[in-house]
Amino acid sequence: MSEQIKKIALIGGGPSGLIAAQFLAALNKYEIHLYEQKSSVGRKFLIAGRGGLNLTHTEDTLLFNKRYGTAEDFLTPHLSGFTPEDLRNWAQELGIDTFVGSSGRVFPKEMKSTALMRAWTTKLSQAGVHFHLRYSFEGFGDQGQPLFRDKNGDIHETQFDAVLLGLGGASYPHLGATASWVTPLEERGVKVNPFRPVNCGFNIRWSDHLLKHEGAPLKNVSLTMDFETSRGDAVITQYGIEGGLLYSLSRSLVIAVGQPEGAAPLLDFRPDMPFETVLEKLSAPRGKQSLSSFLRKKLKFSALETALLHEFTPGPVPADPPLLAELIKGLPIRLDSPRPLEQAISSSGGIDLSEFDDMLMLKKCPGWFAAGEMIDWDAPTGGYLLQACFSTGIAAAKGIERWLEK
Ligand SMILES: Cc1cc2nc3c(=O)[nH]c(=O)nc-3n(C[C@H](O)[C@H](O)[C@H](O)COP(=O)(O)OP(=O)(O)OC[C@H]3O[C@@H](n4cnc5c(N)ncnc54)[C@H](O)[C@@H]3O)c2cc1C
Repeated sequence: MSEQIKKIALIGGGPSGLIAAQFLAALNKYEIHLYEQKSSVGRKFLIAGRGGLNLTHTEDTLLFNKRYGTAEDFLTPHLSGFTPEDLRNWAQELGIDTFVGSSGRVFPKEMKSTALMRAWTTKLSQAGVHFHLRYSFEGFGDQGQPLFRDKNGDIHETQFDAVLLGLGGASYPHLGATASWVTPLEERGVKVNPFRPVNCGFNIRWSDHLLKHEGAPLKNVSLTMDFETSRGDAVITQYGIEGGLLYSLSRSLVIAVGQPEGAAPLLDFRPDMPFETVLEKLSAPRGKQSLSSFLRKKLKFSALETALLHEFTPGPVPADPPLLAELIKGLPIRLDSPRPLEQAISSSGGIDLSEFDDMLMLKKCPGWFAAGEMIDWDAPTGGYLLQACFSTGIAAAKGIERWLEK
């Protein structure tokens, strides 16, 4: 007698769910159903490609894994099961060449995600994945089966042999990651940690004078919070400050901003110039020059940089060279609050790591797996977010295979 084909539900059509679907469909032994509440899959992945899709990073594995902070140990086995090189090969197999940028970041040659997503969904359809679009996961039925609401509001329940959730975190909810899954999982006793913005900008109440520099870039500076330093660019916005300079420190900055003493990371305007050199340049006679023209001539300061010195120095900016050099090498920038979660590139929080076994199955929901940003890890921008979504998607898919073959 022929054995019944096992059915798998993959819920959420982001990178974590789609890569799991691809892995499981390639095994050619299961019936794969992918459910997505939007009318198309991969919306966040497509938006991620707007500013240049940073797929992964080529840095040394040990350093790479450290980017995940306290989730490093949890993610390491999954990252080694599907590495940055595997991710590049995967793109290549879909006909998308990648290249390594000067900072070690990996991008598709075209920079965008559109062609990659088109090739990917075509491959999944050809592999026999059944797509159920505009089906929203609503929770668990009486028998522990997933419940879906379709676009007409009708509820569907089907038994599956295994379920993978790849429902995303809580940022950019208009693209689908609405975190509506939190309540049904909590009702099953699964611990879900509160979401917080990561890779986000910060609010600062600027003076009218500084607001004149809205849109101006701050280039090649560094920012230090406690023992962490980030290097890069930022831009002044009407509400505060945005940019990679802040994003890579945002995990610590968001926490610090919530403490009574607040967050005032130190801005180094000239990170490549030692303090002594700055001091030497500032020790030249200033004569009748204004501060801005003196700093422009001696240190190539932009109008924005001088305005920031005025903005964050309590009282007048000191003329004394050692005091001025100290501020230029470490000006405390007081941040008021992070930008709202909905506007952050990613979120921290989500399913607590203790809820998983080593195959990414939820211990309290046998046969149910999870992957991607809905798990409580976070990372800076640089390709680390997508890499972990892909790696956990593959790990959970392998977990499903192991679970079904037991
Ligand atoms: C502007 C921007 C730029 C980014 N750039 C980069 C970058 O260059 N590099 C990088 O590494 N990362 C980047 N990211 C982050 C990256 O896109 C995410 O980490 C990644 O998409 C998360 O994948 P995921 O599969 O976990 O979730 P998502 O991509 O959020 O997918 C989750 C899916 O689940 C669906 N869903 C949710 N709830 C339900 C439900 N109840 N029922 C059915 N379906 C549901 C959603 O509609 C969605 O399609 C960027 C993010 C943003 C917002």
